[in-house]
Amino acid sequence: MAKKLARKTTSHPSTPRARAGGPRSKKTAAATKPVARKAAGKGQRQYVYFFGRQTDGGGSMKPLLGGKGANLAEMCRIGLPVPPGFTITTEVCTYYYASKRTYPPTLRSEMESGIAALEQQTGKQFGDLKNPLLVSVRSGARDSMPGMMDTILNLGLNDQTVEALATKTGNPRFAWDCYRRFVQMYGDVVLGVQKRPDEDHDPFEAVIHGLKHERHHQDIEDTRLSVDDLKELVRRFKALVKDRAGKQFPSSPWDQLLGAVGAVFGSWMNDRAMVYRRKYNIPTEWGTAVNVQAMVYGNTGENSGSGVAFTRNPANGVKEFYGEFLLNAQGEDVVAGVRTPEPVAELKKAMPRAYAELERIRQTLEKHFKDVQDFEFTIEDGVVYMLQTRNGKRTAMAALKFSVDMYNEKLIDWKTAVMRNPADQLEQLLAPVFDLAEVAKAKAIASGLPAGPGAASGKIYLNAERAVAAADKGEKVLLVRVETSPEDLRGMIAAEGILTARGGVSSHAALVARQMGKVCVCGAAAVEVDYQARTVTVDGRTFKEGDWMSIDGTIGKVYAGQVKTAPSEIVAGLIEGNEAAKKTEKFKNFHQLMKWCADATRMSVRTNADTPEQAANAVAFGAVGIGLTRTEHMFFEGDRIDAMREMILAETLEERKAALAKLLPYQRDDFAGIFRALKGYPATIRFLDPPLHEFLPHTKEQQEELAGKIRIPAARIHQRVQGLHEFNPMLGFRGCRLGIGYPEISAMQARAVFEAAAIVQKEGIKVRPEIMIPLVAFKKELDLQIEVVHQAAREVQNEQKVKLTYMVGTMIEIPRGALTADEIAQSAEFFSFGTNDLTQTALGMSRDDSGSFLPHYEELEIVKKNPFATIDASGVGQLVAIAVTKGRATRPNLKLGICGEHGGDPSSIHFFEKVGLDYVSCSPYRVPVARLAAAQAALSVKVGD
Ligand code: PEP
Ligand code: MG
Repeated sequence: MAKKLARKTTSHPSTPRARAGGPRSKKTAAATKPVARKAAGKGQRQYVYFFGRQTDGGGSMKPLLGGKGANLAEMCRIGLPVPPGFTITTEVCTYYYASKRTYPPTLRSEMESGIAALEQQTGKQFGDLKNPLLVSVRSGARDSMPGMMDTILNLGLNDQTVEALATKTGNPRFAWDCYRRFVQMYGDVVLGVQKRPDEDHDPFEAVIHGLKHERHHQDIEDTRLSVDDLKELVRRFKALVKDRAGKQFPSSPWDQLLGAVGAVFGSWMNDRAMVYRRKYNIPTEWGTAVNVQAMVYGNTGENSGSGVAFTRNPANGVKEFYGEFLLNAQGEDVVAGVRTPEPVAELKKAMPRAYAELERIRQTLEKHFKDVQDFEFTIEDGVVYMLQTRNGKRTAMAALKFSVDMYNEKLIDWKTAVMRNPADQLEQLLAPVFDLAEVAKAKAIASGLPAGPGAASGKIYLNAERAVAAADKGEKVLLVRVETSPEDLRGMIAAEGILTARGGVSSHAALVARQMGKVCVCGAAAVEVDYQARTVTVDGRTFKEGDWMSIDGTIGKVYAGQVKTAPSEIVAGLIEGNEAAKKTEKFKNFHQLMKWCADATRMSVRTNADTPEQAANAVAFGAVGIGLTRTEHMFFEGDRIDAMREMILAETLEERKAALAKLLPYQRDDFAGIFRALKGYPATIRFLDPPLHEFLPHTKEQQEELAGKIRIPAARIHQRVQGLHEFNPMLGFRGCRLGIGYPEISAMQARAVFEAAAIVQKEGIKVRPEIMIPLVAFKKELDLQIEVVHQAAREVQNEQKVKLTYMVGTMIEIPRGALTADEIAQSAEFFSFGTNDLTQTALGMSRDDSGSFLPHYEELEIVKKNPFATIDASGVGQLVAIAVTKGRATRPNLKLGICGEHGGDPSSIHFFEKVGLDYVSCSPYRVPVARLAAAQAALSVKVGD
């Protein structure tokens, strides 16, 4: 059984130390460094950090205090109005899980000191029958995880203290509203009274809905519930708790507090928090802190309210005060999307003084944190309080604009500007927008708030489970919900876009969509969602699950049907040379960012391209060469496949040579096109790699058809297919094994490369072919192939009377190749790491079949990330590092690159920077991402780290 903290029902422990002084002057406060307090006793670890009149922590202590706790302390230090509180450190969370869900023995007394400090500073007492202190209990991980963990407000209320609060404030409606909120939240979060799988609504919300209809015959706003309604709700909530949780609602404030703290720590391991951590790579070991803070109330009446705001617009990056608020409401109402809030600009009229104070706070925050802040505030009877600040989540578009604007405003330098753009989000900027002509024809049926930019078209699904199932079947999905909650996370990940009927730009849907780079429109009030009938009715039309809808998350419009998309301005400007696109701010900012990247980077970025068009696109995105041309990809088009098949089916050298002679002109023309598109940049051309059987027809009908075409008996084809059958084709007759078995294939490919090089060179274009031999495990394999290449080079140079410059190198993609890199480097002029095969062979895990168990491995955290997407640095990475060291020991100027899928993955790119590769190579549309990641790697890690 889990050991619980010793309980105490009375709540007036004496203050262990007097807290000196009033609020600090700004100057001294800002200059003060965080000092670790030893309240826990000499030599004892401190688990509780105060903030308020005395502040123990500071902004730099996020690992210990979590993001929320550290920034609350920091805001206290710079003189912003923060209600006092204390933070229980992340170390307690670690302890809790390491010690079978028990707490450090000294925690209880530290918490008592914390509550005593709050009592002293607020003049209220915890559990008091005259002037009760209420607190909020919130989670606070090192990196914010919006909505993923639990929060409890108004803690400390019971049947007696609620009356005290009512009398003290002279506002029974307010007191009972707090109490009903508290029982609801506590019941949900701590006592686990939640929506069951067969229910579409939260059970507490269902009770509220029932009472409203019973007593008011309609769905009135919560603010119109009377004191008596609220009392009745509390009664029904408690009955619900008793029924579902099988126990009475706790009335002792200390029991409530201890339960809440345990629930917050417990929520670190809830399903949605784990899904979130996996997606955003947050280590489980970090743990969460817990913040206990004196309540301030946004629900005391029309002169109070709660809101969330950003110092700039996080959707499009515009420098404007952006956010929303609700009058007479507590913070949870704003983010939960239950009522649709007002834009923060409206506060100017409603409460001009509070608005002016918020403006001042906005300026202070940006000047101090030097980044866009996302903050939560409460106005209690006209007075503004800050409840949280953190760096605002932003779309890629906003991140780009923030970084360039803040550089121009001299708030940050150019290197910081580069670091401010998340590399894994940059692809969003290249995401399509609706085709203008198409959208003009489409019927806009509703509008909502533009919460996640971009254009998405998909079949609608109304719950996460069905959305995931449809996406798994390959459908494009649009998730449509009244509002989303963290339970919808999996569906949101699977969907192209998200549409909600309720909720503002800081609702759960909006926050999460923005972070994931999902297209999102929220608060589209005209959209009526019927979960039971699985239909959406808008503008008099009813859509069933599976019908198409489209949304534009940049302007907040909803369209019926499927709307074609068009490329983003960046793609239009760079790839299509569209002049209007080049004049847009987005294009110019992107251009500036890429210029900074070029200044910062050490590694260069090449591309994996098999056609002249792909090569040209990649060069437009800033690639400086090809890192991998997979020549087998050139054989799938038109009639080439037949010549290729003839070559495979040939039984004699002559037959094979005749078939190869047909293939040579195709290859030569392809290579010439690629050399031209590269305009002098190098091209690494890999000789044939795939298993031969992939090229052969497998069904009887296909074999008969081919037999007719190339005039050989079908039986011979069938026999050859049987002969080439492999159990795991990835480990069979492929790579250089093919060229060694049939040197004439490599000879043809080499000739095609050199003939193309001669043609293009004679056109006055510089040509730099780099011939790459795949799947080398033994030096001798490479030597045999190099001989063939040099022979073809000599022949073509003589025939064409040209001098060609070329290199011959190898892929390192077999562990033996990596381990004997010193020998292989005697012959190879360059290495390119084939990390797809290197991962497959090092892990003994098939690239094709691992999907059947890898997701489970990720869930169990056996692997932190899919090793075929992000390099397994400590395993496969070691092979890369060994090959780098051994290769360069033999040949100091050995050129080193990577062309596996990892070449476009930001965290892998950091690893490749550390091991000192010269370049990474990735698909054309990932080139900007790789350029940014390479620049960031150069700015943040060192070769050899
Ligand atoms: C690799 O193995 O990493 C590689 C780039 O080659 P391919 O994916 O074509 O096997
Ligand atoms: Mg490979």
